Formats: sequence, structure tokens, C-alpha cells
Amino acid sequence: MSYPKVIIDLNKIEKNTLLLSKKCNEKGIDIAAVTKVFCGAPEIAHAMIKGGAKYLADSRIENLKKLNKFHIPKILLRLPMKSQAEDVVEYADISLNSEIEVIEELSTWAKKKNKVHNIILMIDLGDLREGIFEEEEIYETINKIKKYENIRVKGIGTNLTCYGGIIPRKENLNKLLNIRDKIKERNNLELEMISGGNSSSLHLIESDDMPQGINHLRLGESLVLGRETAFGENIENAHRDCFKLEVEIIEIKEKPSIPIGDIGMDAFGNKPTFIDKGIRKRALCAIGKQDVDISDIELYDCDIDILGGSSDHLILDITDTKNDYNIGDIISFRLSYGGILKTMTSEYVDKVVSS
Ligand SMILES: *Cc1c(COP(=O)(O)O)cnc(C)c1O
Repeated sequence: MSYPKVIIDLNKIEKNTLLLSKKCNEKGIDIAAVTKVFCGAPEIAHAMIKGGAKYLADSRIENLKKLNKFHIPKILLRLPMKSQAEDVVEYADISLNSEIEVIEELSTWAKKKNKVHNIILMIDLGDLREGIFEEEEIYETINKIKKYENIRVKGIGTNLTCYGGIIPRKENLNKLLNIRDKIKERNNLELEMISGGNSSSLHLIESDDMPQGINHLRLGESLVLGRETAFGENIENAHRDCFKLEVEIIEIKEKPSIPIGDIGMDAFGNKPTFIDKGIRKRALCAIGKQDVDISDIELYDCDIDILGGSSDHLILDITDTKNDYNIGDIISFRLSYGGILKTMTSEYVDKVVSS
């Protein structure tokens, strides 16, 4: 038993994947399960495959390496670094791209390895992260790619609601389908995959507004948190607590609510402020900002307040709780997306799967 610990419920993750893959399949959409928030942990990815994911997708090649044993297509989500082209061709069957220079490098490695590497050309529909923005550049790029025998343009895709907060709508996704049609006309190329975004596109399925022709989505947050992400609404019948954080109490003492002496900067350069609530019972826990941000955790015990923390400590006010806590006891938290990401990345946090 080692703390802090994240407990991952594989059964709930499989059920969430099953629920969403069914909904998507009914509209002719296959899903890629996005594994980056849990650093590509193979047991969790396996639960998503059992739940009906047709692809695994991650933004980091290091994570795709961990998933090499699964025989379904793997997608690299972040545009490849030119310097990683060899690994991309080795460990990803498909990568998202927007730069011809990088595609050329992928082609060189694909040729050396006697492989065909698939790419999805990313189109920026206004969220202003990755993708080709100028329409002419799309057709020119596809023309240039034609000379690379070991590169196949499998499709086009877009990503929304990540930087600009742009909500996927019929209108912007129809643009993607328009571009597909023009590629057929102008490049004489029929595309297989039209990838219409991430969890923020799910609301279009719910309201039956998903344009026909979008046949692929890349889902992360919705599978692990049971939430669509355009409006932050919970998905009906999905599990929201697939990940649980447990931390251990290392000190319990009654102390004043205001520090004693002149107040300067805290450990992170901020000047803290305090409200005088008199003497309070405080529990000090063994987890800190190195492992998780305080804003990303939520107590199961609603009568406990989070007072703050530092790199390695979390301070709780346990005066009002009905539970009797002692040294060595465990306190549990729900995790936000950022909370899952950071705890799964921290080498100081133990990870345990249950089902
Ligand atoms: C992270 C990511 C996703 C998954 O996003 P969620 O909001 O977690 O569903 C999809 N596509 C790309 C390109 C990503 O980087």
C-alpha cells in the first residue's frame, strides 16, 4: 500500500467507451480512444478497446510505444516533430499533419522501413491551434504529397475547442465536408476518413446535428470523465468517477486560522490572505503541487475545506466533518481532467487499477 494513490476503475471506463462508441457507430462514426490523459497506460487502453474503440490515439510517441502490443491502428495526435519522424513511422500507423517538410521526412523514413504511413491532413476551421488555414494550401499540399509513394492521405480532420474555445457546429463541420468534395474534384482523391474533432463534438450527436459524412471522432475526456466538453455537460448514463485520488494524513492539530508574524510571499511567490475563523482542526496530507493542483481536486467528504498547500503538502480543515480522522487515515478526492493528467504523470503517485 503506497500513497498518494490513483485508483482507476477499468469496468467504468469500458462501460463509458461502450456507451459512446455505440452512440457514434449508430451515426456511422468510429471512435479513436485518446490515451494521453493517462500517459498511455496499457490496461486502461485495453478497457477502451473492449468498449469498442477502433483506434488508439495519443499526442506523444512515448505513449504510443507502450501501446505497440495492441493490434489496432494507432494515431499520433500532435503534429510530429521532424526530429521524431523515424519513431512516428515505427509506432504510429497514422499521424495528423499540416507541414509538407515534416511529411517529406516521414516519407523518407517510411521508404527506409518499407512501410506506407497514413496521414490525416489537419484543417484549421478557426480554433487557431494546428492545421492548414488557407484553403488553397490544402489542395497544393495534397498535390505535393502525391510524389511520396510511401505516404497515403487517409483523410482530413479538424480540432476545435482546445485553444480558441470554438464550438463545433453544423456550419464549421460542413466546411470540412466541402473541402473533402473539392479534394475529390481538384486532386482526384477520394478520402476515407473525415475526423470531426474531439469530445466537444459529441453534443452534435446528441442533438442529431452531426453532418452526414463525418465518420471519425477522437475521444478522451468524455471517456474518462463522462462529460461532453463544448458546454461541460454530463453525459447521461456515463460514469464520472473512473479515477479516484487517495492521500494519507500525516499530522492532525488544532491551530489558529491566521499565520503568526509578518506575512510575505508563499512558496510560489504569491502573497496569501486569510480569514480569521478562530482555532481550527487541520489535517496535513502527503501530496503537493508537484503531484496535483489544488483546483483540480474535489473532496468526497463535503464537510472538509481545502485550505491550501505547497510543493509536497496539502492542508485541510477537518473541524466540521462528522467523520473521525486519525493519523495514517486516507482521504479521497474526485479528479478533474487536469487532476488526472498531473497525478498520472507524477512518478510520486501510485496507480492501481480495479474492476
Ligand atoms: C487531446 C486531443 C483529442 C482528445 O480531446 P478530448 O477533449 O479529451 O476528447 C483529440 N484530438 C486531438 C488533436 C487532441 O490533441
